[in-house]
Amino acid sequence: MTVAPAPTVTLDNRFARELPELAVAWRAEGAPDPRLLVLNEPLARDLGLDPAALAAPEGLRLLTGAAVPAGATPVAQGYAGHQFGGYSPRLGDGRALLLGELVDAAGRARDLHLKGSGRTPWARGGDGLAAVGPMLREYVVSEAMHALGIPTTRSLAVVATGRGVRRETVLPGAVLARVAASHLRVGSFQYAGASGDTELLRRLADHAIARHYPEAAQAENPHLALFDAVLAAQASLVASWMLVGFVHGVMNTDNMTISGETIDYGPCAFMEGFDVAAVYSSIDEGGRYAYGNQPLVAEWNLARLAEALLPLFSDDQERAVELAMSSLGAYRPLHAAAWLNGMRAKLGLPAGLDDAVAAPLVNDLLELLQAARADFTSFFRDLARAARGQAEPVRGWFLDLAGIDSWLERWRALEPDADAMDRVNPVYIPRNERVEEALAAATAGDLAPLDQLLQVLARPYDERAGLERYAEPAAEGSGPYRRFCGT
Ligand code: AMP
Ligand code: MG
Repeated sequence: MTVAPAPTVTLDNRFARELPELAVAWRAEGAPDPRLLVLNEPLARDLGLDPAALAAPEGLRLLTGAAVPAGATPVAQGYAGHQFGGYSPRLGDGRALLLGELVDAAGRARDLHLKGSGRTPWARGGDGLAAVGPMLREYVVSEAMHALGIPTTRSLAVVATGRGVRRETVLPGAVLARVAASHLRVGSFQYAGASGDTELLRRLADHAIARHYPEAAQAENPHLALFDAVLAAQASLVASWMLVGFVHGVMNTDNMTISGETIDYGPCAFMEGFDVAAVYSSIDEGGRYAYGNQPLVAEWNLARLAEALLPLFSDDQERAVELAMSSLGAYRPLHAAAWLNGMRAKLGLPAGLDDAVAAPLVNDLLELLQAARADFTSFFRDLARAARGQAEPVRGWFLDLAGIDSWLERWRALEPDADAMDRVNPVYIPRNERVEEALAAATAGDLAPLDQLLQVLARPYDERAGLERYAEPAAEGSGPYRRFCGT
């Protein structure tokens, strides 16, 4: 009999060491009957972990937090956050643990983190647990985002615990093992800022600079340079969401990273029919986090980050506010440029095409898409067909044929490159019906639809025969899709 080796992993505890005020040493509850649902083998290898060892019993103990590698210090991280605009001074990981940091093949430090690993001192009324469905959902959507080239936390594994989780009904429980550039959030800075301990705030900012933006350390005002770097990363991140129709759903300041990675996939969804007011979260009644609001919300969140950092910008408060306002002023132009560059590429137009030509063309198109509620993903693939002389599929999305025809004429005159379009416009996104279908099957014990979906989404630009149903928009009349926040 061969005994599978225990995974060898060395975890640093730099966060816990440098920022003990934001870390509570803690242990996971462990799982009574762990069963591996999905393992990201390429990611495991990239982290220097042996997939076979992770899938073996000792590996599952690591992935559920039951076994802690020698020398590691798992911690629950403290942070604050504005949730739907209301400030919560003490949030923190209520059901998550940072196991520690490791170094990937590219030499980058990565957090290894568990979600659904049991109650922590931050759990308040929560049970500390997570259900199989939502953890698989985070796995599917985060890996789809990664394949689309969008900065995101990654998913290493989902392990069913064998423990029931009480929601509206009792659901099977799971732990997600997540990998991130770090778990520092806007809310981490709000927490340190609210403590009134400027030295803690400075230590946190220096930790963030060392980890994510080392070049900021050379700037005249390193903490302002940190803020500028986060702002630029978020301006570009949110533009990349908008370009694929991604709606995050809970852009609270505790769900916005300092690294510029997408984090915390809860009631998120990919928009199908184009609608700037698209909302998928059942608890977002006011549409605060609607598709079209996301750029503004990111700016609002960055203003909260600036507020927290003020004491580091300058000892003179007025000067600090002036500096913050001036930096914030860069957000809109940066976001607008990232969006317009992305749209130029989606439309197959040269990068050098004048904004004065590109911007009105894009804005007029958005009006047509909004009126038609055209499928945002299929539209661009059909548009590439139009660039090849086959205009009927794209015209099929519109009732206002005169409107789209005159737009198509303006666009064609710019000589769009159809092949370039197909390289940036995905065929496959995690469509809500396909995701729900795969999660329902997996929850009931059949993992085949999940495996198939993951394979489809891993190559989003590569159209393959036999996968038509993954590219199909939801049937008309299926009603607005709602994600419930019972994650
Ligand atoms: P989220 O909206 O998932 O980003 O979570 C917001 C906050 O609620 C975070 O502090 C979470 O740790 C906490 N939380 C969410 N679900 C649970 C749960 N089931 N048990 C304990 N804490 C939770
Ligand atoms: Mg969160």
